Amino acid sequence: MNTSTSQQLFEKAQNYIPGGVNSPVRAFRAVGGNPIFIKSAKGPYIYDEDGNEYIELINSWGPMILGHAHELIQKAVSDAIQHSFSFGAPTRREVEIAELIVSMVPSIEKVRMVNSGTEATMSAIRVARGYTGRDKIIKFEGCYHGHGDSFLIAAGSGAVTFGTPDSPGVTKGVANDTLTAPYNDLEAVQQLVDANKGQIAALILEPVVGNMGCVLPKEGFLEGLRRICDEEGIVLILDEVMTGFRLSKGGAQERFGITPDLTTLGKIIGGGMPVGAYGGKAEIMNYVSPAGPVYQAGTLSGNPIAMAAGYTMLTYLNEHPEVYTQLENAGNKLANGFRASMEKLGLNYTLNQIGSMYTLFFTPDAVTDFPSAKSSDLPLFGKYFHAMLNRGIYMGPSQFEAMFLSIALTDAHLERIIAANEEALIEITA
Ligand code: PMP
Repeated sequence: MNTSTSQQLFEKAQNYIPGGVNSPVRAFRAVGGNPIFIKSAKGPYIYDEDGNEYIELINSWGPMILGHAHELIQKAVSDAIQHSFSFGAPTRREVEIAELIVSMVPSIEKVRMVNSGTEATMSAIRVARGYTGRDKIIKFEGCYHGHGDSFLIAAGSGAVTFGTPDSPGVTKGVANDTLTAPYNDLEAVQQLVDANKGQIAALILEPVVGNMGCVLPKEGFLEGLRRICDEEGIVLILDEVMTGFRLSKGGAQERFGITPDLTTLGKIIGGGMPVGAYGGKAEIMNYVSPAGPVYQAGTLSGNPIAMAAGYTMLTYLNEHPEVYTQLENAGNKLANGFRASMEKLGLNYTLNQIGSMYTLFFTPDAVTDFPSAKSSDLPLFGKYFHAMLNRGIYMGPSQFEAMFLSIALTDAHLERIIAANEEALIEITA
């Protein structure tokens, strides 16, 4: 495979952009080698600067659930740009998308649009603090909620009472207000809550984790968190930036039948444009300025081009429930194929999959939390990644990422992925 143009671009990029990329994981550091530079994408395919074609399993980390450059979204965007690019003033479209989100996501009564998932989670936490008058939050080890200071906290082993900054630049004061618990460990959460009575504003989690690879909530975990939050007056925030509009029309909360107080959204909600949102109970959302005292604003929030893309995407999903059947079938077909290959080859790696999200972990042990995800053989994943890339399959370049399927993948594409996976496994374990 010739990737010489990508190599040249990456060399140049490093002179002007930190690490040569605008978001760290894109640099391929976790898997070795240099990133490929993308020129275009259509449907299930993505093309690099050297003209190589790949089948898409990243899909912009989730948003491209209908496949790339979907005609309806293209048309909505090109219609919208005829009327200028930004007004910084209210528009009809914002009302329509808010109404649509409220109708699709069961727990959301009011919603505010922002420009990224990071903004959504930062703002949701601020509102929860304003609403409760409390400072601390609980997050889970291995969950990612964007790069807001409060969330860049890694836990030590076990439940810890006080965080320490994982990233330089996060002040100790902020870190001390973020408590961390192991995912899927209700008891640890209860202990944290007991040790910090009346001080915890919010508990935030990915209801299905994508950011330590795909990790599912154990039975009763989400319900248990809901109960603890109710008992202690803690705002339960489901971060559905990845799972929203993906695991069902109403996200993971609909799929698992759990009602959060606040929800954060991103990715699919913008149809590929920079959009995020946070919403939930009207009683809490009414704390947001100008309805209430918690300040949050944005020059480009509700941007008309982004809203046109998002509104068209959500309308399509709302009106085509068969999308979710297709995504379920695609995910299950892939998982069955991968499992059949592993059985045939006598390999016992762990495949976590739910609907159109999955991760193949290079460990024989069940992956239910961050330590078990980290027990994976990371160099082996790196080899697997390149073996797949060489076979024309474009995957997230880290063991700690979920793959995202789109409805543009036909049975023939899925069979190609299953065949590539089997060949890659043979190659890397030889
Ligand atoms: N929350 C979750 C669950 C995410 O997966 C991400 C991004 N992958 C974010 C928040 C942050 O979103 P963004 O990158 O749009 O800021």
